[in-house]
Amino acid sequence: MVQDLSSKMRASLHTLGCRLNQSESLLMGDQLERAGYRLVPFGQPCDLAIINTCTVTRLADAKCRTAIRRLIRENPGAFVAVVGCYSQIGYKEIARIPGVDLIVGNGEKLNILQYVSLGKNEHPVIIRDRITKEDFSIEFVGERPYPRRANLKIQDGCSFVCSFCIIPKARGPARSRDLSNLLEEARGQVARGVRELVLSGVNLGTFRSGEGDLVTVVDALNALDGLERIRISSIEPTTVPLELLARMNDPYHALLPFLHLPLQSGSDKVLSSMRRKYTVREYLSFVHRAKELVSGLCLGTDIMVGYPTEGEREFEETMRTFAENPFSYCHVFPFSERQGTLAARMKVRHDVAVKRMRSAKLRRLSERKRYDYYRSHLGREATVLFEDPRGNFWPGYTDNYIRVVVQSNEDLRNRIGRVHLDRLAGNVVEGRLVEVVPDQLTANGRSSALSAG
Ligand code: SF4
Repeated sequence: MVQDLSSKMRASLHTLGCRLNQSESLLMGDQLERAGYRLVPFGQPCDLAIINTCTVTRLADAKCRTAIRRLIRENPGAFVAVVGCYSQIGYKEIARIPGVDLIVGNGEKLNILQYVSLGKNEHPVIIRDRITKEDFSIEFVGERPYPRRANLKIQDGCSFVCSFCIIPKARGPARSRDLSNLLEEARGQVARGVRELVLSGVNLGTFRSGEGDLVTVVDALNALDGLERIRISSIEPTTVPLELLARMNDPYHALLPFLHLPLQSGSDKVLSSMRRKYTVREYLSFVHRAKELVSGLCLGTDIMVGYPTEGEREFEETMRTFAENPFSYCHVFPFSERQGTLAARMKVRHDVAVKRMRSAKLRRLSERKRYDYYRSHLGREATVLFEDPRGNFWPGYTDNYIRVVVQSNEDLRNRIGRVHLDRLAGNVVEGRLVEVVPDQLTANGRSSALSAG
């Protein structure tokens, strides 16, 4: 049962890891406010602290433990709840940290308020039910204004078996959110000021609800008044419906020209031992098709280095594949052995130094590719959704994910502007504001149509 709490109770939420965690933290924050808590930034004194954790690598686990310890040190009286993927997998390690009161896995994470009490526990209560296979709905209780980009959870879990990945154990099998339920949240998010929704899940392309798939979701969201932008977060290469590409290229559709397709390796030998579902040639053939069909497409990827079967030769193949193809950037992940995965049973292990060196090489190349991508847009106009300012400098992203900053004395927060992209400045593009697009003109991808000419 939800506790009856005075409005003076302060709650703090800290999120580690992926967009899915961020979307769930937004929902938990709404629940806390509804229950009478006042949300305060992480690090400030509070009565209840929730840490939403990640377990994708050993480093992620270590970061979670550091955040938990820091929180307990700074807030010795707070009721401390640790939720999410690390709680699901590493609950025994978390239970050994003195001061933790509650550990909740992924199954019950969004029901956290049922388990929160006001007294500290001598030993943590552990709630870690099996994760069901059922599709799901989530009650949306958001009331506070939230004028910024938000993640919308539409899917959870994964039924693929990539050899290195612990996520199917942490989040369970693939399942989808009920279509009308997710639209209800989307409407609520738009009503509170959200203009860009980032669709989030573990394996988004496997979304199914009745007869509907990911294209159905995107089209239904496109029809919502006031929703300007829809962005798809990371999606598995073999699961992207081709119809999505036509929508990305349609300036009157809110779906943005952005694809983040995890490649993981540029070597077929490594891909096969990772149990990925494609060859390098298949992946690249899709990527080139997407680049042809979607003008200005931003193409990002994830690459893992130091996988057990990756020798120097395979790493060089990966470098070449990434260098010679139209990627805009990559996120680099050094292989991390996760107990319970197939890769954890492989005998070969690379030195940390090898993984570091390969990561550094690939990251340097990624930076060069990102600059090249940004540079190729200089001199053009683009639409930018502005975020919170620093002084009178307003940062934001173009629809195809170029980080831009403009100087202006106008209040641009959460507004969309047409910007002339002038020059590279560090890792952003400096632009000149041409005009702020009136809000009534921007609905349903209209602002993209303005910059498309
Ligand atoms: S597709 Fe592979 S890497 Fe992605 S969550 Fe599923 S098992 Fe993990």
